Amino acid sequence: MRLLRFRQGDRIAVGTADGDRLRPLRGTFFENPLPTGEDVPLDKVRLLAPVLPSKVVAVGKNYMEHAVEMGGEVPEEPLIFLKPSTTVIGPGDGIPYPSVSRRVDHEGELAIVIGRVARRVRAEDAGRVILGYTCANDVTARDLQRKDGQFTRGKGFDGFCPLGPWIETELDPADVSVECRVNGETRQAARTSQLAFGPGVLIEFVSRVMTLLPGDVILTGTPAGVGPLSIGDLVEVEIEGIGTLANEVVDGG
Ligand code: MG
Repeated sequence: MRLLRFRQGDRIAVGTADGDRLRPLRGTFFENPLPTGEDVPLDKVRLLAPVLPSKVVAVGKNYMEHAVEMGGEVPEEPLIFLKPSTTVIGPGDGIPYPSVSRRVDHEGELAIVIGRVARRVRAEDAGRVILGYTCANDVTARDLQRKDGQFTRGKGFDGFCPLGPWIETELDPADVSVECRVNGETRQAARTSQLAFGPGVLIEFVSRVMTLLPGDVILTGTPAGVGPLSIGDLVEVEIEGIGTLANEVVDGG
């Protein structure tokens, strides 16, 4: 099932999508949502980020070839960092390129969306707390990440976490393709079977550190091929079985 958030006029709501039809729901994904009975053409609404997380937990160097291109190797245990909730934007929103950076990179990633409060969840039980999966772009001001020696500024600008276009609840994330294109040209292409730490292990690891709340998101890491963006570029993250998240890079001032 595809779960999405949308805007239609002044209304913001959630719903399920089937083909080109949208069925709005009352309430949220997390409290027994009920269909309103409406049936709306999907192209009559504006899609929003499918969730508004309290936090975005991201994983660094989780694909071997990306770890190598960053001049390292896959760490012994997951390397995690946080992106502020204010980094989240939706499909079609502009990614603001901040004037303080000279090098902003794309990082296409599979994102896990948490559906239930998760604290100290074992890997084998992780399925119980996962609502589904979506596409993400862990946009990074690489020069500032390197200059600062830590990730908060380089990964934390407003708009640096596009999510969407929706949450796929039936995806088996074991071996799907993850691709990132810039202006139609493939820059990153890998399969989730190449992840050093898969979703179950990540949820166990993260939930032993911090409680995950419904709507929180874990970015599972990016494949090799990260590279620079320019204002005006169209970035697409496509994940097999989910869909394509597309955003244009805009002047962030
Ligand atoms: Mg990343």
